[in-house]
Amino acid sequence: MQRGTCRLECQRVKSNRQAGIAQLARARAFQARGRGFESRFPLQAFPCSDSQDLRPADRVGGSFVVQCIRVWSCRILVGVLLSGWLVVPAQATDPEAYRLNEAAVAEVRRGNPEAALDLLTRAATLDSRDASIRGNLARVRTVVAHRLTQAGRLSEAEVQYRAALDADPGEVAAWVGLGELQLRQRDPREAVEAFRRAVELKPEDGETRIRLGQAYYNLGELPAALSEWERAAATRSDDGELRERIARVRREANIQSSYRAKESQHFAVVYEGRRQEDLGQEFVRLLEQAYLEVGYVLGAYPSAAVSVILYSDVDFAPATGHSTEVGGFYGRLDGKIRIALRGLKPGDARLASLLAHEYTHALIYSVTRGNNPPRWVHEGLAVHMERDRAPQFKDEAQRRGRAGRFETLEKSPYLMGSVAIEYLIERYGMATIRLLLQRLWEGAPFAEAFQGTFQTDLATFERAVGDFVSRGY
Ligand SMILES: [Zn+2]
Repeated sequence: MQRGTCRLECQRVKSNRQAGIAQLARARAFQARGRGFESRFPLQAFPCSDSQDLRPADRVGGSFVVQCIRVWSCRILVGVLLSGWLVVPAQATDPEAYRLNEAAVAEVRRGNPEAALDLLTRAATLDSRDASIRGNLARVRTVVAHRLTQAGRLSEAEVQYRAALDADPGEVAAWVGLGELQLRQRDPREAVEAFRRAVELKPEDGETRIRLGQAYYNLGELPAALSEWERAAATRSDDGELRERIARVRREANIQSSYRAKESQHFAVVYEGRRQEDLGQEFVRLLEQAYLEVGYVLGAYPSAAVSVILYSDVDFAPATGHSTEVGGFYGRLDGKIRIALRGLKPGDARLASLLAHEYTHALIYSVTRGNNPPRWVHEGLAVHMERDRAPQFKDEAQRRGRAGRFETLEKSPYLMGSVAIEYLIERYGMATIRLLLQRLWEGAPFAEAFQGTFQTDLATFERAVGDFVSRGY
């Protein structure tokens, strides 16, 4: 990345943001990204115990960041709420502003940050120059923003974080919260900017530096990520997981240092091209094709470029920790698609299917912004978008059903997930799937979104799918 141009780019992105959000909402285009799980694309026809063979993928490279996120959530919640207690009465010149500020402090102590926000907004209107009022306003906005984030109301949360920073650019928790939000929405470039500001304000905070490293990592800037993590590790001698992570990413960086990079409008592709220089163009073409096809069907497009790394077989395992049998996976925590080429050439239809499958996962995360549907929805839709294995999966599920081997959606996300998704598409149409994703984007819990979309509850639906595979109707 050209770090010097980042600020300018960020400014441009920000100025387009408000109009963009409104437009996207109107167009029901799904914006932003979220966290989820990793998934695999086994090339063998029928993953017999597909839920089982997914587990290692979830473990590798996940626990560290999951833990970070958990720690962060906890700290920011506790930290921000505690800082709410520190709100001090201002020495405002305007007596009414002073009174409002005091009343706001009382509301914070009662645990009503929303009420405090209202009072402080009025206080700030009366006395816009009082530093205590501005500081209090920033802190309370940050608390409110954090609550909105937890409720899945991400756009509103972002507005509050930014307003908090307008009131007081020194509010570290607001920068961290904003960075976290951007990381969750798969915008690592902006996340880097936000975490960098937080680190500048509080350089001794290792936790924030780790988040900055994560944003660099997600952006594909591995040396910058390593540099931040190493600085954080210097003050965290007992953090074994961080050291492990550093060692793994060093290996990954080492492998990628000989790789080529290619950027297109919607993808940042890194690939092993030592023998063939023109491969990158072909990979980009296939990915752009997946972008159009999957986007057309699901009616959604991610708002930032998706990172894709195509490994040679010898590099895949050391770089990812997975065996090459996996074929490829989408990392929920870093938002990158990783593919083991296994000798597949761009002309091979299986490669196009593989990319469409993994891109579908990336898009679903993007669409639902962390309010992720269950695995069977992910895999069912990804298999649908492959345009390859769905008919085979249906036959196999029916064969097993007739033999009395009924598997649940949870236990069999590929096979039964595929059958369930095809069942839904056939009976309700693709537009309802888009509606389901839209409801998840709006923050509805999955069961509620499902019920609202298909007018049936999940248990009844699962029984219907069971009947379908065992009786064939
Ligand atoms: Zn998958």
